[in-house]
Amino acid sequence: MGYCIDGLLLRCVHCDEMTDVHTPEQRSFNMSRISGRDTKPEMLVRRMIHAAGFRYRLHVKDLPGKPDLVFPKARLVLFVHGCFWHMHKCKYGKPAPANNRDFWAQKRAGNADRDKRNRKALQAAGWRVAEIWECQTKEAAKLEKQVSKVLAVLQEART
Ligand SMILES: [Zn+2]
Repeated sequence: MGYCIDGLLLRCVHCDEMTDVHTPEQRSFNMSRISGRDTKPEMLVRRMIHAAGFRYRLHVKDLPGKPDLVFPKARLVLFVHGCFWHMHKCKYGKPAPANNRDFWAQKRAGNADRDKRNRKALQAAGWRVAEIWECQTKEAAKLEKQVSKVLAVLQEART
């Protein structure tokens, strides 16, 4: 474990990369990710799906990309991605840190490439791959829309 000057530590839930990268704009957005695995966006999604009566396995290590939620019967995996680390095309995914720009840009690009490869590998193995982005969990309406898509697939598989 390491600490940056003001004690803020960030960890990517998927690759376990840790860094003290932060810009003032991103600080509050990334705050929720400090504790690592059970990050707030993921917990929100998990709670909603659980409340709808569906059960899942978590962070399944033997699947490509260690999907956050796995629904074996529906053959569905769900990733809850952090926008910054996984380079979402949104305002949170775009800005590059002021220091070590190239180094971090490369790391993030590497994550995005890996995500793509994992998605293909999962699909090739017959899995449906769903993604919910961190920014989509910030507004109740957006979050509900994304989760309801997942629930629709699960409901279909149950009948
Ligand atoms: Zn985003």
